[in-house]
Amino acid sequence: MTRRLFQGVAGTADDSETLRALSKSCHPERAKRVEGPAVAFPLVPSPLVPSPLVPSPLVPQSPQFVVNGDELHEECGVIAIHGHPNAARQAYLGLYALQHRGQESAGIATADGAHLANIKGMGLVSEIFTDDVLEKLPGQMAIGHTRYSTTGDSALLNAQPIRVDSTKGLIAIAHNGNLVNLGNVRSRLERDGAYFQTTSDSEIIVQLIAHSHAGTLVDAIADSLSHIDGAFSIVMMTRDRIFAARDPRGFRPLSMGRIRNPNGPDTIVFASESCAFDLLRAKFERDVLPGELVMVTEDGVTSRQYSTGIEQTSCIFEHVYFARPDSRIFGRWVQESRDQMGRQLARESGVPADVVVPVPDSGVTAALGYAEEARLPFRFGLIRNHYVGRTFIEPEQRVRDFGVRLKLNPVRNLLEGKRVVLIDDSIIRGTTSRKIVRMVRGAGAKEVHLRISCPPTVSPCFYGVDTPSKRELIAANKSIDEIRSFIEADSLAYLSLDGLLNCCQGETHTGYCTACYTGNYPTQWVDVDEIVPATATL
Ligand code: SF4
Repeated sequence: MTRRLFQGVAGTADDSETLRALSKSCHPERAKRVEGPAVAFPLVPSPLVPSPLVPSPLVPQSPQFVVNGDELHEECGVIAIHGHPNAARQAYLGLYALQHRGQESAGIATADGAHLANIKGMGLVSEIFTDDVLEKLPGQMAIGHTRYSTTGDSALLNAQPIRVDSTKGLIAIAHNGNLVNLGNVRSRLERDGAYFQTTSDSEIIVQLIAHSHAGTLVDAIADSLSHIDGAFSIVMMTRDRIFAARDPRGFRPLSMGRIRNPNGPDTIVFASESCAFDLLRAKFERDVLPGELVMVTEDGVTSRQYSTGIEQTSCIFEHVYFARPDSRIFGRWVQESRDQMGRQLARESGVPADVVVPVPDSGVTAALGYAEEARLPFRFGLIRNHYVGRTFIEPEQRVRDFGVRLKLNPVRNLLEGKRVVLIDDSIIRGTTSRKIVRMVRGAGAKEVHLRISCPPTVSPCFYGVDTPSKRELIAANKSIDEIRSFIEADSLAYLSLDGLLNCCQGETHTGYCTACYTGNYPTQWVDVDEIVPATATL
Protein backbone atom coordinates (compact mmCIF):
# COMPACT_ATOMS: atom_id res chain seq x y z
CA MET A 1 0.00 0.00 0.00
CA THR A 2 2.73 2.40 0.93
CA ARG A 3 4.58 1.97 -2.32
CA ARG A 4 1.59 3.43 -4.09
CA LEU A 5 2.33 6.67 -2.36
CA PHE A 6 5.07 7.48 -4.81
CA GLN A 7 4.03 5.72 -7.94
CA GLY A 8 0.88 7.08 -9.51
CA VAL A 9 2.48 10.30 -10.62
CA ALA A 10 2.17 9.90 -14.36
CA GLY A 11 -0.10 12.12 -16.43
CA THR A 12 -0.06 15.36 -18.26
CA ALA A 13 0.17 17.56 -15.20
CA ASP A 14 3.12 15.54 -13.93
CA ASP A 15 5.18 16.31 -16.99
CA SER A 16 5.86 19.74 -15.64
CA GLU A 17 7.26 18.46 -12.39
CA THR A 18 11.01 18.75 -12.41
CA LEU A 19 11.75 16.63 -9.44
CA ARG A 20 9.88 14.25 -7.22
CA ALA A 21 12.39 13.68 -4.51
CA LEU A 22 10.81 13.60 -1.13
CA SER A 23 13.52 14.91 1.08
CA LYS A 24 13.29 18.02 3.10
CA SER A 25 16.42 19.19 4.75
CA CYS A 26 18.25 22.43 5.09
CA HIS A 27 20.49 21.40 7.90
CA PRO A 28 24.10 21.59 6.70
CA GLU A 29 25.00 18.13 7.93
CA ARG A 30 21.95 16.72 6.22
CA ALA A 31 22.87 18.46 3.03
CA LYS A 32 26.31 16.89 3.11
CA ARG A 33 24.80 13.45 3.36
CA VAL A 34 22.80 14.08 0.23
CA GLU A 35 26.02 14.57 -1.67
CA GLY A 36 27.06 11.01 -0.82
CA PRO A 37 26.55 7.84 -2.84
CA ALA A 38 23.19 7.64 -4.56
CA VAL A 39 20.58 5.31 -3.12
CA ALA A 40 17.87 3.62 -5.15
CA PHE A 41 15.11 6.11 -5.78
CA PRO A 42 12.33 5.27 -8.16
CA LEU A 43 11.14 8.76 -8.87
CA VAL A 44 13.22 9.94 -11.78
CA PRO A 45 13.04 13.49 -13.10
CA SER A 46 10.49 14.01 -15.81
CA PRO A 47 11.90 13.98 -19.35
CA LEU A 48 9.91 17.15 -19.97
CA VAL A 49 11.74 19.55 -17.73
CA PRO A 50 10.77 23.10 -18.66
CA SER A 51 13.83 24.99 -19.77
CA PRO A 52 13.60 27.77 -17.16
CA LEU A 53 14.20 25.13 -14.52
CA VAL A 54 17.73 24.47 -15.57
CA PRO A 55 19.90 25.48 -12.62
CA SER A 56 20.49 29.18 -12.82
CA PRO A 57 24.03 30.54 -12.93
CA LEU A 58 23.35 31.99 -9.51
CA VAL A 59 22.75 28.59 -8.00
CA PRO A 60 25.61 27.29 -5.91
CA GLN A 61 27.38 24.35 -7.44
CA SER A 62 29.62 23.49 -4.53
CA PRO A 63 30.03 24.57 -0.93
CA GLN A 64 32.97 26.82 -1.79
CA PHE A 65 30.56 29.21 -3.47
CA VAL A 66 29.01 30.39 -0.23
CA VAL A 67 30.00 33.99 0.40
CA ASN A 68 29.12 34.44 4.01
CA GLY A 69 28.87 31.41 6.22
CA ASP A 70 28.26 33.50 9.33
CA GLU A 71 24.59 34.22 8.80
CA LEU A 72 21.61 32.25 9.98
CA HIS A 73 19.11 31.14 7.41
CA GLU A 74 15.42 30.44 7.57
CA GLU A 75 14.37 27.28 5.86
CA CYS A 76 11.26 28.23 3.97
CA GLY A 77 8.34 30.43 3.14
CA VAL A 78 4.94 29.02 2.13
CA ILE A 79 1.89 30.45 0.38
CA ALA A 80 -1.55 29.06 -0.51
CA ILE A 81 -4.32 30.53 -2.65
CA HIS A 82 -7.92 29.32 -2.90
CA GLY A 83 -10.53 30.67 -5.28
CA HIS A 84 -8.66 32.89 -7.71
CA PRO A 85 -8.89 32.57 -11.51
CA ASN A 86 -5.13 32.93 -11.76
CA ALA A 87 -3.96 31.26 -8.63
CA ALA A 88 -0.45 30.52 -9.95
CA ARG A 89 0.26 34.20 -10.54
CA GLN A 90 -1.02 35.06 -7.07
CA ALA A 91 1.21 32.40 -5.58
CA TYR A 92 4.11 33.80 -7.58
CA LEU A 93 3.52 37.27 -6.14
CA GLY A 94 3.22 35.84 -2.65
CA LEU A 95 6.47 33.93 -3.00
CA TYR A 96 8.11 37.05 -4.38
CA ALA A 97 7.24 38.84 -1.12
CA LEU A 98 8.53 35.86 0.87
CA GLN A 99 11.78 35.59 -1.05
CA HIS A 100 13.80 36.64 2.02
CA ARG A 101 12.86 33.32 3.67
CA GLY A 102 14.73 31.32 1.04
CA GLN A 103 16.48 32.19 -2.19
CA GLU A 104 17.78 28.94 -3.57
CA SER A 105 14.75 27.08 -4.85
CA ALA A 106 11.05 27.66 -5.28
CA GLY A 107 7.99 25.80 -6.48
CA ILE A 108 4.31 26.27 -7.22
CA ALA A 109 1.63 23.56 -7.49
CA THR A 110 -1.82 24.35 -8.84
CA ALA A 111 -5.14 22.49 -9.06
CA ASP A 112 -8.17 23.08 -11.24
CA GLY A 113 -10.57 20.60 -9.68
CA ALA A 114 -9.40 17.70 -11.84
CA HIS A 115 -5.64 17.95 -12.24
CA LEU A 116 -2.73 18.91 -10.06
CA ALA A 117 0.35 20.44 -11.67
CA ASN A 118 3.67 21.19 -10.00
CA ILE A 119 6.74 23.12 -11.14
CA LYS A 120 9.89 23.57 -9.11
CA GLY A 121 13.30 24.91 -9.89
CA MET A 122 16.53 26.39 -8.65
CA GLY A 123 17.06 30.10 -8.21
CA LEU A 124 14.98 33.11 -7.31
CA VAL A 125 11.21 33.07 -7.75
CA SER A 126 11.42 35.60 -10.58
CA GLU A 127 14.07 33.53 -12.37
CA ILE A 128 12.02 30.33 -12.26
CA PHE A 129 8.50 31.56 -12.85
CA THR A 130 8.51 33.42 -16.12
CA ASP A 131 5.23 34.08 -17.93
CA ASP A 132 5.69 30.92 -19.99
CA VAL A 133 6.15 28.78 -16.91
CA LEU A 134 3.18 30.30 -15.10
CA GLU A 135 1.03 29.52 -18.16
CA LYS A 136 1.67 25.84 -17.47
CA LEU A 137 0.06 26.11 -14.05
CA PRO A 138 -3.73 26.36 -14.55
CA GLY A 139 -6.30 26.37 -11.79
CA GLN A 140 -8.05 28.34 -9.09
CA MET A 141 -5.96 26.91 -6.29
CA ALA A 142 -2.23 27.01 -5.68
CA ILE A 143 0.37 26.37 -3.04
CA GLY A 144 3.94 27.62 -3.22
CA HIS A 145 7.21 27.27 -1.44
CA THR A 146 10.55 29.06 -1.39
CA ARG A 147 13.51 27.74 0.50
CA TYR A 148 17.09 28.17 1.54
CA SER A 149 19.52 25.30 1.37
CA THR A 150 23.25 24.86 1.66
CA THR A 151 24.33 23.25 -1.60
CA GLY A 152 23.02 23.12 -5.14
CA ASP A 153 22.26 19.43 -5.27
CA SER A 154 20.47 19.28 -1.99
CA ALA A 155 18.51 22.42 -2.81
CA LEU A 156 17.19 20.87 -6.01
CA LEU A 157 16.40 17.59 -4.29
CA ASN A 158 14.59 19.30 -1.52
CA ALA A 159 12.60 21.80 -3.55
CA GLN A 160 8.90 21.85 -2.70
CA PRO A 161 5.90 21.53 -3.06
CA ILE A 162 6.07 17.76 -3.04
CA ARG A 163 3.28 16.10 -4.97
CA VAL A 164 2.34 12.53 -4.19
CA ASP A 165 -0.44 10.16 -5.13
CA SER A 166 -1.44 8.66 -1.80
CA THR A 167 -4.10 6.18 -0.80
CA LYS A 168 -6.13 9.24 0.18
CA GLY A 169 -5.73 10.80 -3.29
CA LEU A 170 -3.37 13.31 -4.86
CA ILE A 171 -1.80 15.65 -2.33
CA ALA A 172 0.69 18.48 -2.76
CA ILE A 173 2.43 19.61 0.40
CA ALA A 174 4.78 22.45 1.28
CA HIS A 175 6.08 23.04 4.74
CA ASN A 176 8.34 25.20 6.84
CA GLY A 177 10.09 23.83 9.90
CA ASN A 178 11.69 20.65 11.21
CA LEU A 179 10.11 17.67 12.94
CA VAL A 180 11.93 16.34 16.00
CA ASN A 181 10.31 12.96 16.61
CA LEU A 182 11.14 11.43 13.24
CA GLY A 183 12.61 8.28 14.77
CA ASN A 184 9.53 7.33 16.79
CA VAL A 185 7.04 8.02 14.07
CA ARG A 186 9.09 6.41 11.37
CA SER A 187 9.66 3.21 13.37
CA ARG A 188 5.96 2.91 14.10
CA LEU A 189 5.06 3.42 10.45
CA GLU A 190 7.65 0.86 9.37
CA ARG A 191 6.19 -1.63 11.83
CA ASP A 192 2.85 -0.93 10.14
CA GLY A 193 4.39 -1.83 6.79
CA ALA A 194 5.40 1.60 5.50
CA TYR A 195 8.19 1.53 2.93
CA PHE A 196 10.21 4.73 3.14
CA GLN A 197 12.00 6.12 0.14
CA THR A 198 13.69 8.89 2.11
CA THR A 199 14.16 10.23 5.61
CA SER A 200 12.30 13.43 4.86
CA ASP A 201 9.87 15.20 7.12
CA SER A 202 7.45 15.58 4.24
CA GLU A 203 7.38 11.90 3.49
CA ILE A 204 6.63 11.11 7.11
CA ILE A 205 3.68 13.47 7.12
CA VAL A 206 2.28 12.02 3.90
CA GLN A 207 2.89 8.44 5.08
CA LEU A 208 1.01 9.21 8.26
CA ILE A 209 -1.91 10.56 6.26
CA ALA A 210 -1.91 7.50 4.01
CA HIS A 211 -1.77 5.12 7.00
CA SER A 212 -4.39 6.87 9.07
CA HIS A 213 -7.51 4.81 9.78
CA ALA A 214 -9.61 7.99 9.80
CA GLY A 215 -12.49 7.91 7.37
CA THR A 216 -12.03 11.29 5.69
CA LEU A 217 -9.01 13.13 4.40
CA VAL A 218 -9.41 16.01 6.83
CA ASP A 219 -9.67 13.56 9.74
CA ALA A 220 -6.61 11.73 8.43
CA ILE A 221 -4.61 14.98 8.26
CA ALA A 222 -5.69 16.00 11.78
CA ASP A 223 -4.84 12.52 13.04
CA SER A 224 -1.42 12.61 11.34
CA LEU A 225 -0.48 16.06 12.62
CA SER A 226 -1.27 14.99 16.17
CA HIS A 227 1.43 12.30 15.88
CA ILE A 228 4.31 14.56 14.90
CA ASP A 229 6.33 16.89 17.07
CA GLY A 230 8.50 19.86 16.25
CA ALA A 231 8.04 22.90 14.07
CA PHE A 232 5.77 22.87 11.07
CA SER A 233 3.67 25.43 9.26
CA ILE A 234 2.11 23.49 6.41
CA VAL A 235 -0.01 24.20 3.38
CA MET A 236 -1.52 21.27 1.49
CA MET A 237 -3.65 20.97 -1.58
CA THR A 238 -5.78 18.24 -3.13
CA ARG A 239 -7.62 18.56 -6.44
CA ASP A 240 -10.35 20.61 -4.79
CA ARG A 241 -9.25 21.72 -1.33
CA ILE A 242 -6.60 23.69 0.49
CA PHE A 243 -5.42 22.93 4.01
CA ALA A 244 -3.25 25.03 6.31
CA ALA A 245 -1.93 23.99 9.69
CA ARG A 246 0.53 25.00 12.40
CA ASP A 247 2.24 22.83 14.94
CA PRO A 248 0.75 22.94 18.47
CA ARG A 249 3.54 25.20 19.77
CA GLY A 250 3.25 27.61 16.85
CA PHE A 251 6.99 27.77 16.17
CA ARG A 252 6.75 29.24 12.67
CA PRO A 253 4.32 31.95 11.60
CA LEU A 254 1.39 31.31 9.25
CA SER A 255 -1.34 33.86 8.60
CA MET A 256 -4.64 33.88 6.76
CA GLY A 257 -5.84 36.70 4.52
CA ARG A 258 -8.77 37.41 2.24
CA ILE A 259 -9.27 39.14 -1.10
CA ARG A 260 -12.85 40.39 -1.25
CA ASN A 261 -14.70 39.53 -4.43
CA PRO A 262 -18.02 41.37 -4.85
CA ASN A 263 -19.10 39.01 -7.64
CA GLY A 264 -18.38 35.66 -6.06
CA PRO A 265 -16.60 33.81 -3.29
CA ASP A 266 -13.66 35.57 -1.71
CA THR A 267 -10.11 34.43 -2.42
CA ILE A 268 -8.54 32.93 0.71
CA VAL A 269 -4.79 33.27 1.13
CA PHE A 270 -2.33 31.73 3.58
CA ALA A 271 1.24 32.97 3.88
CA SER A 272 4.24 32.56 6.14
CA GLU A 273 4.22 36.31 6.67
CA SER A 274 1.58 38.97 6.26
CA CYS A 275 3.87 41.06 4.00
CA ALA A 276 2.80 38.69 1.21
CA PHE A 277 -0.81 39.85 1.55
CA ASP A 278 0.07 43.44 0.68
CA LEU A 279 1.35 42.52 -2.77
CA LEU A 280 -1.81 40.45 -3.37
CA ARG A 281 -4.05 43.23 -2.04
CA ALA A 282 -5.35 40.72 0.47
CA LYS A 283 -6.49 41.81 3.89
CA PHE A 284 -4.88 40.18 6.88
CA GLU A 285 -7.59 38.25 8.69
CA ARG A 286 -5.85 36.31 11.45
CA ASP A 287 -3.01 33.97 12.32
CA VAL A 288 -3.59 30.26 11.89
CA LEU A 289 -3.56 29.24 15.54
CA PRO A 290 -1.03 26.85 17.03
CA GLY A 291 -2.56 23.36 16.76
CA GLU A 292 -5.18 24.50 14.24
CA LEU A 293 -6.05 22.85 10.94
CA VAL A 294 -7.94 25.07 8.49
CA MET A 295 -9.69 23.68 5.42
CA VAL A 296 -10.90 25.80 2.49
CA THR A 297 -13.35 24.39 -0.04
CA GLU A 298 -15.88 25.87 -2.45
CA ASP A 299 -18.26 25.96 0.50
CA GLY A 300 -16.00 28.21 2.58
CA VAL A 301 -13.54 28.02 5.45
CA THR A 302 -13.78 25.50 8.26
CA SER A 303 -11.37 24.95 11.10
CA ARG A 304 -10.63 22.59 13.94
CA GLN A 305 -8.09 22.40 16.75
CA TYR A 306 -6.36 19.08 16.25
CA SER A 307 -4.27 19.75 19.36
CA THR A 308 -4.98 21.74 22.52
CA GLY A 309 -3.37 22.38 25.88
CA ILE A 310 0.24 22.73 24.69
CA GLU A 311 2.04 25.93 25.60
CA GLN A 312 2.82 28.24 22.68
CA THR A 313 6.55 28.66 21.97
CA SER A 314 6.81 30.72 18.82
CA CYS A 315 10.30 31.40 17.48
CA ILE A 316 11.46 34.71 18.93
CA PHE A 317 14.23 34.87 16.34
CA GLU A 318 11.57 35.55 13.72
CA HIS A 319 11.10 38.93 15.43
CA VAL A 320 14.84 39.49 15.83
CA TYR A 321 15.94 38.65 12.32
CA PHE A 322 13.97 36.49 9.92
CA ALA A 323 10.62 38.12 9.35
CA ARG A 324 10.28 41.35 7.40
CA PRO A 325 9.61 44.47 9.50
CA ASP A 326 6.44 45.08 7.47
CA SER A 327 5.01 41.74 8.60
CA ARG A 328 2.72 41.11 11.50
CA ILE A 329 3.57 37.78 13.10
CA PHE A 330 2.52 36.15 16.37
CA GLY A 331 0.09 39.04 16.85
CA ARG A 332 2.70 41.79 16.68
CA TRP A 333 4.34 43.96 14.05
CA VAL A 334 7.96 42.98 13.57
CA GLN A 335 8.92 46.64 13.10
CA GLU A 336 7.54 47.46 16.58
CA SER A 337 9.48 44.62 18.18
CA ARG A 338 12.75 45.62 16.54
CA ASP A 339 12.28 49.28 17.40
CA GLN A 340 11.73 48.28 21.03
CA MET A 341 14.80 46.01 20.95
CA GLY A 342 16.95 48.98 19.92
CA ARG A 343 15.46 51.20 22.61
CA GLN A 344 15.90 48.56 25.27
CA LEU A 345 19.48 47.97 24.14
CA ALA A 346 20.19 51.69 24.57
CA ARG A 347 18.68 51.62 28.06
CA GLU A 348 20.59 48.49 29.08
CA SER A 349 23.99 49.21 27.57
CA GLY A 350 24.19 52.76 26.27
CA VAL A 351 27.67 54.11 25.65
CA PRO A 352 28.98 57.65 24.95
CA ALA A 353 29.14 57.91 21.15
CA ASP A 354 28.75 60.25 18.18
CA VAL A 355 26.71 58.17 15.74
CA VAL A 356 24.58 55.01 15.53
CA VAL A 357 25.18 52.85 12.45
CA PRO A 358 23.16 49.74 11.55
CA VAL A 359 24.61 46.63 9.99
CA PRO A 360 22.23 46.47 7.03
CA ASP A 361 19.63 45.32 6.47
CA SER A 362 18.28 43.53 9.50
CA GLY A 363 19.95 45.82 12.04
CA VAL A 364 18.30 48.97 10.66
CA THR A 365 15.08 49.07 12.67
CA ALA A 366 16.77 48.27 15.98
CA ALA A 367 19.41 50.92 15.23
CA LEU A 368 16.70 53.52 14.66
CA GLY A 369 15.18 52.63 18.04
CA TYR A 370 18.59 52.77 19.73
CA ALA A 371 19.42 56.15 18.18
CA GLU A 372 16.11 57.71 19.24
CA GLU A 373 16.37 56.36 22.76
CA ALA A 374 20.03 57.41 23.10
CA ARG A 375 19.39 60.75 21.35
CA LEU A 376 22.21 60.11 18.95
CA PRO A 377 22.27 60.69 15.19
CA PHE A 378 21.41 57.64 13.06
CA ARG A 379 23.46 57.27 9.89
CA PHE A 380 23.77 54.67 7.15
CA GLY A 381 27.51 54.33 7.63
CA LEU A 382 27.59 50.96 5.88
CA ILE A 383 26.08 50.49 2.46
CA ARG A 384 24.95 47.08 1.34
CA ASN A 385 25.33 45.95 -2.23
CA HIS A 386 21.97 44.27 -2.87
CA TYR A 387 23.15 42.70 -6.08
CA VAL A 388 25.63 40.37 -4.44
CA GLY A 389 23.98 37.04 -3.78
CA ARG A 390 25.25 34.58 -1.25
CA THR A 391 26.45 32.52 -4.17
CA PHE A 392 29.24 34.67 -5.47
CA ILE A 393 32.09 32.49 -6.72
CA GLU A 394 34.95 32.31 -4.24
CA PRO A 395 37.62 30.03 -5.56
CA GLU A 396 40.25 30.70 -2.93
CA GLN A 397 40.44 31.60 0.73
CA ARG A 398 42.22 34.81 -0.21
CA VAL A 399 39.16 35.82 -2.20
CA ARG A 400 36.76 34.41 0.38
CA ASP A 401 38.00 36.98 2.89
CA PHE A 402 36.76 39.49 0.39
CA GLY A 403 33.17 38.38 1.02
CA VAL A 404 32.06 40.98 3.54
CA ARG A 405 33.65 43.78 1.54
CA LEU A 406 31.72 42.69 -1.52
CA LYS A 407 28.53 42.94 0.44
CA LEU A 408 29.17 46.00 2.60
CA ASN A 409 31.09 49.19 2.06
CA PRO A 410 31.75 51.92 4.65
CA VAL A 411 30.79 55.56 4.11
CA ARG A 412 34.06 57.08 5.18
CA ASN A 413 32.87 60.66 5.70
CA LEU A 414 30.20 59.48 8.17
CA LEU A 415 32.63 57.38 10.20
CA GLU A 416 35.93 59.23 10.19
CA GLY A 417 36.94 60.43 13.66
CA LYS A 418 33.63 59.25 15.18
CA ARG A 419 32.76 57.07 18.16
CA VAL A 420 30.47 54.61 16.42
CA VAL A 421 27.76 52.39 17.93
CA LEU A 422 27.24 49.51 15.49
CA ILE A 423 23.92 47.67 15.79
CA ASP A 424 23.58 44.09 14.54
CA ASP A 425 21.11 41.29 15.21
CA SER A 426 23.43 38.42 16.05
CA ILE A 427 26.98 37.11 16.28
CA ILE A 428 27.26 33.53 15.10
CA ARG A 429 30.89 32.49 14.62
CA GLY A 430 32.22 36.00 15.10
CA THR A 431 34.23 36.10 11.90
CA THR A 432 31.83 38.37 10.03
CA SER A 433 31.44 40.71 13.00
CA ARG A 434 35.22 41.03 13.21
CA LYS A 435 35.43 41.94 9.52
CA ILE A 436 32.73 44.58 9.93
CA VAL A 437 34.36 46.09 13.01
CA ARG A 438 37.68 46.20 11.15
CA MET A 439 35.97 47.79 8.16
CA VAL A 440 34.43 50.56 10.28
CA ARG A 441 37.71 51.18 12.07
CA GLY A 442 39.54 51.10 8.76
CA ALA A 443 37.22 53.87 7.54
CA GLY A 444 38.53 56.11 10.31
CA ALA A 445 36.20 55.45 13.27
CA LYS A 446 37.80 56.46 16.57
CA GLU A 447 35.89 53.86 18.59
CA VAL A 448 33.64 50.96 17.58
CA HIS A 449 31.03 49.73 20.07
CA LEU A 450 29.02 46.72 18.93
CA ARG A 451 25.51 46.23 20.29
CA ILE A 452 23.49 43.10 19.51
CA SER A 453 19.69 43.19 19.57
CA CYS A 454 19.29 39.77 21.18
CA PRO A 455 21.10 37.64 23.78
CA PRO A 456 24.20 35.56 22.89
CA THR A 457 23.43 32.60 20.60
CA VAL A 458 24.65 29.62 22.61
CA SER A 459 22.72 26.64 21.22
CA PRO A 460 21.74 25.39 17.78
CA CYS A 461 18.17 25.43 16.54
CA PHE A 462 16.36 22.20 15.68
CA TYR A 463 13.14 23.83 14.59
CA GLY A 464 13.87 25.03 11.10
CA VAL A 465 16.76 27.47 11.35
CA ASP A 466 20.06 26.51 9.83
CA THR A 467 22.46 27.10 12.74
CA PRO A 468 26.02 25.85 13.11
CA SER A 469 26.83 23.33 15.82
CA LYS A 470 27.51 24.47 19.36
CA ARG A 471 31.20 23.97 18.70
CA GLU A 472 31.07 26.72 16.07
CA LEU A 473 28.90 29.19 18.00
CA ILE A 474 31.32 31.71 19.48
CA ALA A 475 29.05 32.61 22.40
CA ALA A 476 28.85 28.95 23.43
CA ASN A 477 32.61 28.84 23.82
CA LYS A 478 33.79 32.29 24.86
CA SER A 479 32.85 34.91 27.44
CA ILE A 480 31.44 38.22 26.25
CA ASP A 481 34.78 39.90 26.91
CA GLU A 482 36.59 37.19 24.96
CA ILE A 483 34.18 37.73 22.06
CA ARG A 484 34.77 41.47 22.27
CA SER A 485 38.47 40.87 22.08
CA PHE A 486 38.05 38.44 19.14
CA ILE A 487 35.95 40.84 17.11
CA GLU A 488 38.28 43.73 18.05
CA ALA A 489 35.51 46.05 19.28
CA ASP A 490 36.02 48.69 21.96
CA SER A 491 32.95 47.38 23.74
CA LEU A 492 30.33 44.70 23.16
CA ALA A 493 26.90 44.20 24.71
CA TYR A 494 23.90 42.00 23.99
CA LEU A 495 20.23 42.61 24.77
CA SER A 496 19.11 40.72 27.87
CA LEU A 497 16.69 37.81 27.52
CA ASP A 498 14.06 39.53 29.68
CA GLY A 499 14.51 42.67 27.64
CA LEU A 500 14.00 40.76 24.39
CA LEU A 501 10.91 38.96 25.69
CA ASN A 502 9.36 42.24 26.79
CA CYS A 503 10.06 43.80 23.39
CA CYS A 504 8.14 41.04 21.56
CA GLN A 505 4.95 41.05 23.61
CA GLY A 506 1.84 42.35 21.95
CA GLU A 507 -1.62 42.98 23.37
CA THR A 508 -1.99 39.32 24.24
CA HIS A 509 0.76 37.30 25.86
CA THR A 510 2.75 35.16 23.43
CA GLY A 511 4.93 32.32 24.65
CA TYR A 512 8.28 32.19 22.87
CA CYS A 513 10.96 29.65 22.16
CA THR A 514 14.31 31.08 23.27
CA ALA A 515 16.28 27.84 23.04
CA CYS A 516 19.12 29.26 20.97
CA TYR A 517 19.78 31.73 23.80
CA THR A 518 19.16 29.41 26.74
CA GLY A 519 19.61 25.81 25.56
CA ASN A 520 16.14 25.04 26.98
CA TYR A 521 14.26 23.35 24.17
CA PRO A 522 10.48 23.41 24.33
CA THR A 523 9.96 19.95 22.86
CA GLN A 524 10.28 17.04 25.25
CA TRP A 525 13.37 15.76 23.58
CA VAL A 526 15.44 16.55 20.56
CA ASP A 527 16.62 13.55 18.63
CA VAL A 528 19.61 15.16 16.98
CA ASP A 529 20.74 11.97 15.25
CA GLU A 530 17.37 11.59 13.66
CA ILE A 531 17.28 15.20 12.60
CA VAL A 532 20.68 15.26 11.00
CA PRO A 533 20.64 12.40 8.47
CA ALA A 534 19.15 12.84 5.05
CA THR A 535 19.86 10.22 2.45
CA ALA A 536 17.40 11.05 -0.28
CA THR A 537 18.92 11.28 -3.69
CA LEU A 538 18.04 10.50 -7.24
S1 SF4 B 1 15.92 27.70 18.89
FE1 SF4 B 1 16.02 29.89 18.40
S2 SF4 B 1 15.84 30.01 16.17
FE2 SF4 B 1 15.14 27.96 16.81
S3 SF4 B 1 12.91 28.13 17.07
FE3 SF4 B 1 13.85 28.50 19.08
S4 SF4 B 1 14.13 30.75 19.14
FE4 SF4 B 1 13.79 30.18 17.02
